Amino acid sequence: MSAWLDTLSGIEALEVAEFDATLVAGFEARFARLPAEAARNVNFYVPTFKAYATSEIAGCGRSAWPAVSITGPECKLQCDHCKAKLLESMIPATTPEALWRVVNEQIAAGARGMLLTGGSNHRDEVEYGPFFATIRRIKDAFPAFRIAMHTALVTRDQARRIEEAGVDAAMLDVIGAQDTVTQVYHLRRPVVDFEISLAHLAGTSLKVVPHIVIGLHYGRLLGEWNALEMIRRHRPAALVLVVSMPFYAAETRPFAVPGAREVGRFFMDARAALPDIPVLLGCARPPGRAKVEIDAYAVMAGLSGIAHPSDGTVALAARLGRSVRVTPTCCSIAVGDEVLALDDGAGALQLDLDEYLRRDAAARHAQSSAARRLGRIPVVTA
Ligand code: SF4
Repeated sequence: MSAWLDTLSGIEALEVAEFDATLVAGFEARFARLPAEAARNVNFYVPTFKAYATSEIAGCGRSAWPAVSITGPECKLQCDHCKAKLLESMIPATTPEALWRVVNEQIAAGARGMLLTGGSNHRDEVEYGPFFATIRRIKDAFPAFRIAMHTALVTRDQARRIEEAGVDAAMLDVIGAQDTVTQVYHLRRPVVDFEISLAHLAGTSLKVVPHIVIGLHYGRLLGEWNALEMIRRHRPAALVLVVSMPFYAAETRPFAVPGAREVGRFFMDARAALPDIPVLLGCARPPGRAKVEIDAYAVMAGLSGIAHPSDGTVALAARLGRSVRVTPTCCSIAVGDEVLALDDGAGALQLDLDEYLRRDAAARHAQSSAARRLGRIPVVTA
């Protein structure tokens, strides 16, 4: 048994998982070749580590990083994995005046930044044109207020206008397979347009944070490696990986849940392709056993940050000798992760691992005692 398999089997919270021995051996061999900095540090984005904070941490609520849609719930593309449902929970601000009002209200309620997004037109463009002057006004009035913009596809001129408006981070889902563009996004544009947009954004001073949605082709991995290659050519500030969670897919076009093993293999390739920039695992990934396996693979692949880790993930990182930091943040919309992750760890806390592991073991013991007690209580369902 490899040393890492041994480590995995010694962590109680990971007992529910089944790890691929060949893949784990591959992680172990590759990890030794990663640049020391990348291999050493891992940051967990969690709202629940307050007990370990050495200083007071601001309350964590949806209002810290609200998501604002300039089209409300409207989107022309109606992608098969989303059907515009992602927009429904966002705050609508469909005119520049509404955006100014919403931002002022959110700042008064404690917001530190926002994700600015909107539904796309038929060309996968979000029509920000009328809003740029207001975005500039927001940044002039509240320079510390962070704006991460989901840009969608852009021209060179649009990228320059986003930069001039003072946006902090530009985010773009990069798709690498024409079939995915055509079938899942219903978009009649060539796949190369994603790289051209990336190049336009990378040609500005914006922090460019592309995303790859793993399993976007109905749960299968198809264009992910091509997307990675496109991103590698333009050296972004960070790469965020998320795993497709097609809760909104129509029954007629169902999505499979991507296999943890395939996702883990892609983590390894992403880390190898971008050894010296942060590669982060965002909030979106399937729940349950798959999440436990995916999170452990993320640690073993040497990813730089993991949002909302499953039980056992922090213990695994500690036992593999990684230096664990914790950024106490929610990721109701994942924007805080990315922006904070680019702050060179500002706001992150070094975790006292001995203390963490001791509390973890105690909590686990208490839980299993409670479960044993509950085992004797009849369960009544309505
Ligand atoms: S373009 Fe974006 S918001 Fe519109 S359906 Fe596709 S993923 Fe959802």
